[in-house]
Amino acid sequence: MVWVTDHPPKSVDLDSCVTCGLCLPVCPTFRLTGDETASPRGRLAAITAVAEGRIEVDERFDEITSFCLQCRACETACPSMLPYGEVIEAARAEAVAQVPRSNQAIRRLALGRALRSPLMMRASTIEAAVLQRMDVLGSLPIVGGATAGLRRLPLPLPSARGGAWGPVDAERVILFTGCVADTWFTEIHTATVRVLLAAGYRVEAPVTQTCCGALASHSGFGSDADSMADTNISSMAGDATIVVNVAGCGAHLKAYGRYGDGGEGIAARTKDVTEIVAQAIEEGRLPTLASSGHRVVVQDPCHLEHGQKITREPRLLIEAAGYEVVDADPGGMCCGAAGLYQVDHPDTAGQLGVAKAAKIEATGVRLVASGNAGCEMQLRRYLDDGYEILHPVEIYAKALAGQKT
Ligand code: SF4
Ligand code: SF4
Repeated sequence: MVWVTDHPPKSVDLDSCVTCGLCLPVCPTFRLTGDETASPRGRLAAITAVAEGRIEVDERFDEITSFCLQCRACETACPSMLPYGEVIEAARAEAVAQVPRSNQAIRRLALGRALRSPLMMRASTIEAAVLQRMDVLGSLPIVGGATAGLRRLPLPLPSARGGAWGPVDAERVILFTGCVADTWFTEIHTATVRVLLAAGYRVEAPVTQTCCGALASHSGFGSDADSMADTNISSMAGDATIVVNVAGCGAHLKAYGRYGDGGEGIAARTKDVTEIVAQAIEEGRLPTLASSGHRVVVQDPCHLEHGQKITREPRLLIEAAGYEVVDADPGGMCCGAAGLYQVDHPDTAGQLGVAKAAKIEATGVRLVASGNAGCEMQLRRYLDDGYEILHPVEIYAKALAGQKT
């Protein structure tokens, strides 16, 4: 038995590695450990060894593949353009299918079931909001302590799912609401809708859409991710642009091409919100505002920079909002958020979080822009209370409304 899932790592991808090692200096886990098996090249060697029947999918293989952040910095560096993200997701699915773990059932319930259930998401968020008001949420060992980085959760809980805004005869775009994004980060959806309306669009958020499947897929639950993709492909059929304001979800939707024709349509129509807003600013449908004389430090989420090759557009929004852009860590390492990474590898996630926070602190700027919900939580956890962390579209929306940040 070599591979057991329907979508194992592809030989054509594995064969494209020429073992040049150009990916090693950009890989956070290799930089922290200096260990070849913690590098992209080393992980690919292990996956290739399984494909060739030289080793088995065992606990060591599980360890080697799960230590990867799936940040995809290696993809950007690779001259062979090896689709490392796809390969490691497939390898993780094999490890999950073949190596039993004690917490697998609860993890699958959370990632494969709860995230796609608006009812379960709302119930757990209300509970989290109450714990947050009791000042105990951040100290509980939930999701590796990541909840310490949550925004203040609103009560009663709003939701953008099922909403429709703007004139019916305007160009229609779909707002991808996501799972935790809809309950934990509703302000970002509100800002997104506000800016898209100002740009002249009609915005609709189909009630039948569900979680994109990224967290399930990254954690090796490929069949759950496939089923979420099926739901989204039906829910968001048509030709409208799909607007996403969480980098991890956007990168995953842009990889739906793996699901055939319907998936290719979703992939082609998906845009990060900063892409569509930047285009409207450049076309003069949204204004460039006067300088406020203040600065914003921009954090580049891996799934925006490496997963979608987007770095210019968030900066364009910040500048159009009247702020000077400050780069804290150009070409830097992942902040360590990486989905459930902090549950499995809390020390490494913490080291990366502390390092990223130190880079931001060194700028002396206290307003931070991040286009990914997970990164935002990680930054809030490692920066002190004096920092405000917002999505670039929120900064632009506030400036548009004449509000100070
Ligand atoms: S995805 Fe990130 S952590 Fe994983 S091998 Fe590539 S660079 Fe290293
Ligand atoms: S940069 Fe690409 S080709 Fe070179 S070792 Fe890394 S994965 Fe292989």
